[in-house]
Amino acid sequence: MKVQDVNPAATASAGPGPGRRQPAAPGELLGRLRARHHGTDPVTHVERVPARPGEPAPWPRWTPEPLRAAFAGRGVAAPWRHQAEAAELAYAGNHVVVATGTASGKSLAYQLPALATLLADPRATVLYLAPTKALAADQLRAVADLGLDGVRPATYDGDTPRAEREWIRRHARFVLTNPDMLHHGILPGHAQWSGFLRRLAYVVIDECHTYRGVFGSHVAHVLRRLRRQCARFRGTPVFVLASATSGDPATAAGRLTGLPVVAVTEDTSPRGGVTFALWEPPLLPAAATPAPDADLLQVRRSALRETADLLADTVAEGVRTLAFVRSRRGAEVVAANARRALDEAVPGLGDRVAAYRAGYLREERRELERALLHGELLGLASTNALELGVDLVGLDAVLICGWPGTRASLWQQAGRAGRSGDEALAVLVARDDPLDTYLVHHPEALFGRPVEATVLDPANPYVLAPQLACAAAEAPLTPADLELFGDGAKEAVDSLVTAGALRQRPTGWYWRHRERPEVDLRGSDGAPVCVVEASTGRLLGTVDAGSSHVLVHPGAVYLHQGVSYVVDALDLADGCALVHAEEPDWSTHARDVTSLSVVSVRSYLDAGPVGLFLGEVDVTNQVVSYQRRRIASGEVIDTRPLDLPARELRTVAVWFTVSPRSLALAGVEAADIPGALHAAEHAAIGLLPLMATCDRWDIGGLSTAVHPDTEAPTVFVYDGHPGGAGFAERAYRTAAAWLRATRDAIAECGCEAGCPSCVQSPKCGNGNNPLSKPDAVRVLDVVLGHLPAPADGSVGGPTGGSGASVPRQPMP
Ligand SMILES: [Zn+2]
Ligand SMILES: [Zn+2]
Repeated sequence: MKVQDVNPAATASAGPGPGRRQPAAPGELLGRLRARHHGTDPVTHVERVPARPGEPAPWPRWTPEPLRAAFAGRGVAAPWRHQAEAAELAYAGNHVVVATGTASGKSLAYQLPALATLLADPRATVLYLAPTKALAADQLRAVADLGLDGVRPATYDGDTPRAEREWIRRHARFVLTNPDMLHHGILPGHAQWSGFLRRLAYVVIDECHTYRGVFGSHVAHVLRRLRRQCARFRGTPVFVLASATSGDPATAAGRLTGLPVVAVTEDTSPRGGVTFALWEPPLLPAAATPAPDADLLQVRRSALRETADLLADTVAEGVRTLAFVRSRRGAEVVAANARRALDEAVPGLGDRVAAYRAGYLREERRELERALLHGELLGLASTNALELGVDLVGLDAVLICGWPGTRASLWQQAGRAGRSGDEALAVLVARDDPLDTYLVHHPEALFGRPVEATVLDPANPYVLAPQLACAAAEAPLTPADLELFGDGAKEAVDSLVTAGALRQRPTGWYWRHRERPEVDLRGSDGAPVCVVEASTGRLLGTVDAGSSHVLVHPGAVYLHQGVSYVVDALDLADGCALVHAEEPDWSTHARDVTSLSVVSVRSYLDAGPVGLFLGEVDVTNQVVSYQRRRIASGEVIDTRPLDLPARELRTVAVWFTVSPRSLALAGVEAADIPGALHAAEHAAIGLLPLMATCDRWDIGGLSTAVHPDTEAPTVFVYDGHPGGAGFAERAYRTAAAWLRATRDAIAECGCEAGCPSCVQSPKCGNGNNPLSKPDAVRVLDVVLGHLPAPADGSVGGPTGGSGASVPRQPMP
C-alpha cells in the first residue's frame, strides 16, 4: 500500500497506545545519546524541522458537487493550497508537475481536475501511469472508493484477464496502467484503443521521478508515441505529473513529456516537528584497523555497529525506535547486536528488539507492527521493505543507517517518526562513503533547496532508434513526427533506413517487417541476465547486461529483496546466473580495468589552463577480480581473480583537463599527478549522486596523467550505459557546483591520507592505488579557480536546464 497519500487532515492520529509512557523530548534524548560517546562528538549537525500548519484553500469553483461530497466522505474538507494550485493549472490546460514531499497529497492534485472532467464530460477519458502494478492497484482502490457514477476505473496490465480487456478498452474511462503495458500493449494495439485515445483528456504520470536514466529516456519516447496517436485524432491531452521533491522538476518533466511543464513545488500540507541529527561514526585509530589489505589505511567505525548501539540506547530509554538498514543481513546484524547489548545490561531486555524484512508473511508483519505500536516491542531493525510497504507511523525515533540514495527516501523513512503534537527524533548515521560524509557535513544539501535532479537523455541514439522503429511500426513516420521525437531523430531514421528496418517513400518512412520491433524499456545493452535459483529453477529477477559482470560474477553475493544469494556460475552465452540462497557474513566487491578513447566533443568550455568537455567516448571495461569483505567490520578477507571478457561501450562522458604547468604552480609534483587525479576522480564519482539521481553502477571513471586524446592530465566520468543516460551531461552542466562539493568532501574529511569517506572507492580497479588526498584538493582548487561559479553561488544551482540541443561536433 502506498503510504497515506491522502489529505493528512483526514487522518487525525490516534492517541498514545495503551500503557505507553510519555517519551523523552527528542532534544534531551539526543543529548544523552551523544554523551555516551566519549571523546569526539559524533553529531555534526542538528536541524529542528519545525511543525508546519497546513494551508487549506477553497475548492476550485468548477469542482462538481458529487466530487466534493465524495472527498468529504473520505475526510477531505478542503484541498491544501498546492493541491488547488496544481488542479487549477491543469484544468486550465497547462501541463503541470507537482513536486512536493511524502504524504503531501499529490494524488488529490491530479484526481481533482481529472475526475471533475470525467463528471462534466461523459465522453472524456483519463490514462494513469504508475511505475509499479502495486501503485496502480492502490490508485484504483482510491478512485473506486470515491464511488463516483460513470467513472468506471479499471487497471489494464499484464495481469488483466483477456476476457476483461475488451470491456476496459470500450467502457472504462479511468484506465490505470504502466509504461511497459503502454509500450507493449496499448500503443501497438492503438486501433482497438482509438475510441479511448480520441477522447483522452488527461494523462497522469505518478512517481515520475522514477523515470530516469536509460529507462526514463525510453519512457520519454513512449509518451511521444502516445501523443502522436492522440494527435491523429486531434487529441491534445493535458499531462499531470507527480514527483518526489527534486532539483528542477519542471525541466525533468519537460524532458520526459517533450512539453512545456509548469512546476508546483511549495508544500502546504501540515507536518509534525522533527529533531534531525546527522551522525558521523568516529575514525578508528589506524593501528586498530585490520590490515590484510594494506591499501586500506584508515576506516570509520561501521555504520551498522553505530546504529546497533543507538538502537540499544533508545530502547533502554523506553523509546519506540525503527532503524532502517539497506540489506536484510545488515538489519539482522543491527538487531542482534542491539539485543546482545541490552541483554548484557538487563537480562531479557533484548527480547524487545526484532528484525523485520521483506519476505515475511503478511501475518508476521502485522504481528510485528502491532507489537511495536503497543509498546511490547520497542525496537525494530528493518530493510527498506517498510519504506513503501507498510502503514507504520507514529514512532518516537527513526535511525537511518546510511544515506538511502535520495532525499525522497530519506524523508519517507524519517516520516515514520512523530505523532500529532509530539516532536520526534530522526538520526542519519553516515556510512564510510564520500557522499554520506559530505552530507553530514553539509546539512544545507539535505535541508535546503533540493539539488539532485532526475535526469534522462531522450536524444540517446541507442534509445531513439529502437523507439522510432516502434513508432513506425504503429504508423508510418512523417517529417512532422521527427520534430516530435526531437534532436537526433533524422539521423536515427536514416540509420534505420540504411539498416533495412525502414523504407522511405514519398509519404514517409515505413516499417518493413511483419513482426513488431522488440524493444526493452530497461535498456538496449543486450538482453538482461536472468538470475535463477539453481536448486528450484525459480527466476529471482534480472540484472541488466551492462552491470551483470559486476553484480553476478561467480562468487558474488547478490541481494534480492533483502535476501542474499551467492552466485555459483555466470553463463554469458545463455544470459543466466545460477545462484543459491546463502547469507555469508561477507559482501563482494568487483574490480575492473578500463581504457577510454574520445570519439567526439559535443560541447566544451575553454578556461585557460583548465578545459571542461562533454562528448562521446568509447570505453573498454573488464571485470578482473573481486574482493570479499566482512559485513560487520568492512575488513578485507581476500581478493579472487575472475575470467570474464572485456565489454565495449560507446557512451557520453564529462571530462576536465588541467595543464601540467598550472599543477606545478599549485604545488603538485609531477610524480604525484596520477594519485591526485585518481583521488579526485573517485570523490567526484562518489558525489555525482548529489546532482543527479544515479548510483555508482550508473557511472564510471578514468583518470590519467596524460591521455593520448587530450594530451594533458585528465579526469573522465562517463555514463555506464550505451549512448549515455544523462548523468555525465548533468555533471557537465553543474560542473562548478559538483566539483566544489567534491573538493570540500575531500578537504573536510578528518582522515590523514585518504579513507573510504573521501577518496577511496569500493569499486576501484586499481586497488585504490595511487591516491593522494592533499594533491587532489590542489588539483580541484586549480580547476575551480578557472571555472565560472554556479549562477546563484549555492551548492547545486542548475547552471543550465535542457541543454539537449547542443550541436554534436567532431573532435578538432
Ligand atoms: Zn577521508
Ligand atoms: Zn580507482
